[in-house]
Amino acid sequence: MPGKAYIHTFGCQMNEYDSARMMGLLQKMGFDPAGSPEEADVIIVNTCSVREKAEQKVYSLLGRLKVHKKRRGATIAVGGCVAQQLGEKIFEKAPYVDVVFGTHNIDRLPEMISRARGEGERVSGLEMWERPSTFEGDQYLEEGTVKAYVTIMTGCDNFCAYCIVPLVRGREYSRPSREVLDEVRRLAERGVKEVILLGQNVNSYGKKNGDCSFPHLLRQVCRIDGIERVRFVTSHPKDFSDDLVSCFGEFEKLCPHLHLPAQSGSDRILERMGRKYTRDHYLSIVEKLRKVRPDITFSSDFIVGFPGETDEDFRQTLSLIEEVRYDISFSFRYSPRPGTRAAGFEDQVPEEVKRERLIELQSLQNRITLENYRSMVGKKVEVLVEGPSKRDDNKYTGRTPCNKVVNFEAREDVKGQFITVEIVDAFSHSLAGRPV
Ligand code: SF4
Repeated sequence: MPGKAYIHTFGCQMNEYDSARMMGLLQKMGFDPAGSPEEADVIIVNTCSVREKAEQKVYSLLGRLKVHKKRRGATIAVGGCVAQQLGEKIFEKAPYVDVVFGTHNIDRLPEMISRARGEGERVSGLEMWERPSTFEGDQYLEEGTVKAYVTIMTGCDNFCAYCIVPLVRGREYSRPSREVLDEVRRLAERGVKEVILLGQNVNSYGKKNGDCSFPHLLRQVCRIDGIERVRFVTSHPKDFSDDLVSCFGEFEKLCPHLHLPAQSGSDRILERMGRKYTRDHYLSIVEKLRKVRPDITFSSDFIVGFPGETDEDFRQTLSLIEEVRYDISFSFRYSPRPGTRAAGFEDQVPEEVKRERLIELQSLQNRITLENYRSMVGKKVEVLVEGPSKRDDNKYTGRTPCNKVVNFEAREDVKGQFITVEIVDAFSHSLAGRPV
């Protein structure tokens, strides 16, 4: 019977990894990946609940997908963080949905899909366990994929005042290092050259139930044959050890780019957010890393308009951006999330003020990003080619070790290769190159 399956993924890299795992499980059931929902017998929406808008987006997408249920009897399933947060309420708001499964129930997907398709049952799986998954089975990868994610830990115990993640992803759980290393080795055998290790807070890997520290795991990953580039995300500054800093001086294949979310440049706001580090501590990590790896670049996350944020607090966020000179930062207006401490804080900042601050922050960041990108012109860099450019058929695209996107022309198929290119031009978030 099976047929084809289509997955729409919202949100973070961890959701992308989960979707690739879901497709791997569906393939084992006999489903083939579908290019669009139009041709799918099973449609999964893997959701994100990090901001208010995320929920609305889910319902409007589901509204557009229900036609496929009418036309071809497609089974519609909703997974991920909104599913975990809202649970069976989704059935009330979208009665054409067949399956609702939370972040700890991916392993049960085959059984739930079979029941929904076989007996026409409405099925939900929302329990949360200490161990969220067995992670059995390999993730689905498109032919010739050169880079892949590997989740090393899930959940978070930090409960930052604005964040819903601990409520929808559960408590921290570190996968056994043997399991992670086996998965990376299998990816290398499948031709993957770059792995990105994932976790809400990879720096606390192994602290609670794992069998080794994150730096120890990272060193072992860096020694796996066939893997030429290693990256990891997300790091929490409060758990960034000197041992982890030294890894950047030891392994060339550990890429010189780090995503280090600051969220704010003001100690007063960091305190209210419950981030457990100060601006000076944050800057000391940046300084130590630049000592062991002078070519390292940074990216970050920022929230503007956190309850109680004064203009002076905001100025300190801007000055932190100028001091670190991030290659890029992801910035958002504070959005109250149900069940989080900050949602109940009295001194909420007016939306208009949030909008103005976001515009100011992003224009500062865009100026710095362009200056950083322009400083690459004339340099020769190594690019791992991910494939043809989506925007220009004559071009290929890939990333530098510092995670910058480079587009360039090539006479032959260079997908999956390391190519040295000379940077000839710079744009707001990408570079143009000429193969050397
Ligand atoms: S560290 Fe804070 S912001 Fe990050 S996932 Fe955990 S609670 Fe959320």
